[in-house]
Amino acid sequence: MLIVPEREIADLMTREAAFAAVEKVFAAMAADDAYNFPVVREAIGHEDALYGFKGGFDRSGLTLGLKAGGYWPNNLEERGMINHQSTVFLFDPNTGRAKAMVGGNLLTALRTAAASSVSIRHLAREDARVIGMVGAGHQATFQLRAALEQRDFDKVIGWNLHPEMLPNLEKVAAEASLPFEAVELEGMREADVIVSITSSFAPILLADHVSQGCHIACMGTDTRGKQEVAPELLAKATVFTDEVAQSVSIGEAQHAVAAGLIRADDITQLGAVIGGTHTGRSSAEEITLFDGTGVGLQDLAVAAAVVDLAVEKGIAIEVDF
Ligand code: NAD
Repeated sequence: MLIVPEREIADLMTREAAFAAVEKVFAAMAADDAYNFPVVREAIGHEDALYGFKGGFDRSGLTLGLKAGGYWPNNLEERGMINHQSTVFLFDPNTGRAKAMVGGNLLTALRTAAASSVSIRHLAREDARVIGMVGAGHQATFQLRAALEQRDFDKVIGWNLHPEMLPNLEKVAAEASLPFEAVELEGMREADVIVSITSSFAPILLADHVSQGCHIACMGTDTRGKQEVAPELLAKATVFTDEVAQSVSIGEAQHAVAAGLIRADDITQLGAVIGGTHTGRSSAEEITLFDGTGVGLQDLAVAAAVVDLAVEKGIAIEVDF
């Protein structure tokens, strides 16, 4: 069995490799070559932790496994460790033997950023120039860095409930030599692409905050009850997702479906656009919305890629198991 420790991931994994792995597995999901197992997420009644598993099998890539982990809210203050902790386990689909154990913390950030980036590549207008960020926390910086590579953006605008966090976005914009402007939510009408990545439980972005032709990637809502945008915005948009079952249960679409504004059948897997069985954006005026709920296969895809890179570079630790 191979081990790739968390400390090695930053030097091994690139945004390009994460993008390629996520794009490929989204296409495999839409072609029914890959599927996710039901998600387990439990409040374990210890340290206020939420712990769970996200797994799946990709028949085309022969990737089988799971990500185990969750959220330990006391880690940072009490132990100086990050609150999100996860590990990916890969198994040989031919024998069931454990194949690899991979640090999953940075990989989770990279695969989440890759998902909105893949949606921008396939759904945003080619002439998109202004990108708007709703959210300015840890994950927002990863989303913005990856998004900026997809179009010839010339400006970043941002809104956050906690404005003191906005310099996080300004810093990433500066890395790309782009101007940054803090805006009110109405100011998001200037954006051609919007990425939302917050821990909100109530709508932030309303239907009239978004202009025709915009592409929105909703990335924060990954649990029942969370919400970043108004259900009316989903009714107005053409809705895409990583996985429809998650979109309507734990994703942004849960609210629009519950309100009877859209149905599961109205939602298209992004993989269908990647694979060419759906045309994607149909006009320059259409609003497209990607509901990125975060699937286990994304984790397995980036973990498999990093194991290959670690083996190539002689960094993977081999243990008898
Ligand atoms: P973080 O704690 O670093 O940042 C949280 C962000 O949400 C900040 O911008 C904060 O100002 C904002 N926020 C907090 N409470 C809010 C509220 N009540 N209303 C509006 N905004 C609020 O967290 P992070 O690591 O940046 O993660 C952000 C979100 O993304 C989390 O909810 C996380 O669960 C989710 N996430 C989703 C995926 C996925 O695959 N879809 C993957 C990773 C993280």
